[in-house]
Amino acid sequence: MGDKQAVFKVLKKNYSLLAHNTFGFDVKANSFFDYQSVADLRDFIRQGGLTEPYLHIGGGSNLLFTQDYEGLVLHSQIKTVEVLEETPEWVCVRVGAGMVWDDFVAYAVERSWYGIENLSWIPGEVGAAAVQNIGAYGVEAKDVIVEVETLTSEGVEKRYAVSECAYAYRKSLFKTEAYKNEFVTHVTFRLRKQACFKLEYGAIRQELANYPETTLSLVRQVIISIRKEKLPDPKEWGNGGSFFMNPIVSNELFRQLKEEFPAMPFYELEDGRVKIPAGWMIEACGWKGKRLGPAGVFEKQALVLVNLGGATGADVIALSNAVRASVYEMFKIDICPEVNFI
Ligand SMILES: Cc1cc2nc3c(=O)[nH]c(=O)nc-3n(C[C@H](O)[C@H](O)[C@H](O)COP(=O)(O)OP(=O)(O)OC[C@H]3O[C@@H](n4cnc5c(N)ncnc54)[C@H](O)[C@@H]3O)c2cc1C
Repeated sequence: MGDKQAVFKVLKKNYSLLAHNTFGFDVKANSFFDYQSVADLRDFIRQGGLTEPYLHIGGGSNLLFTQDYEGLVLHSQIKTVEVLEETPEWVCVRVGAGMVWDDFVAYAVERSWYGIENLSWIPGEVGAAAVQNIGAYGVEAKDVIVEVETLTSEGVEKRYAVSECAYAYRKSLFKTEAYKNEFVTHVTFRLRKQACFKLEYGAIRQELANYPETTLSLVRQVIISIRKEKLPDPKEWGNGGSFFMNPIVSNELFRQLKEEFPAMPFYELEDGRVKIPAGWMIEACGWKGKRLGPAGVFEKQALVLVNLGGATGADVIALSNAVRASVYEMFKIDICPEVNFI
């Protein structure tokens, strides 16, 4: 076991989380523990570090702090990348949970590893990508994850094959209450070494038509530019990305809605249900570009709620409640927040 003094020395008290949440709220945590390795975290746990309520964060890009956090915030600095297995067709790579997600995407693209380029420029870290099952442009983290490793609050290491992670749209085992006491330490991905693109979502194909050849790095570049055009930069406008999940409804309910709202866009899912873009519904309710106090609905993408300057968690919640009520009034659908309220 490591030296108790050394492990606890790095515990920061009354710590501002301003740099750790993309909404830009200056909330504080009682204490903050930034660990470098699984051994560090295990020593901390075994020496009684988890005495108060705790929360493991990544880059804070999907967190909405409603007040100071009266407990301990944990954060991983494990940023290792290790090739476990490689064939001419694919590579299995094990990545530390603390690595910035987009740094890993850049790393993969540089090595001509395919499969995560559509997830370029999503904020946050590798561990949270596996917790959240991040997704964009027809690709989800679960499509490339092989295994997730965790350390429990008892200091026990566990491994979960992807089939055990209960992945669904923005959902996983690790988001459920029963698994909040497990901290993701590493994620193993299986990436292809031969070209295999998914280009039929959004404006990707249209943008690529301006170039003579489709390459991996070009797809990444195009996706980054589309995202920069559409989404607010948290450094300018504090936000947590898509604030609401796109609701999934039965085919029957969708047909009724489509009769009443013929312009309603939709995506048919493999199981017959239908996903409706929440952003379209919010826009249809007239919220796009509108504000409520210091919080607003982003002018270019109605699914994103932004801190217009000086907003608190309560301001954003007041706006989200108002938006949710309008959508319910018009469509009789309750849109659920994707952002984690703390
Ligand atoms: C501008 C913008 C654009 C975005 N675009 C997208 C998008 O296209 N697609 C998408 O899916 N998301 C998107 N998001 C949301 C966000 O980037 C993702 O949810 C991301 O995975 C959050 O990562 P994070 O490291 O910031 O996690 P945090 O926000 O810090 O945490 C998210 C959740 O994961 C848990 N967690 C974090 N790390 C660990 C760990 N090591 N072990 C256990 N639990 C952990 C936290 O407790 C929390 O419940 C966007 C956000 C922003 C601000």
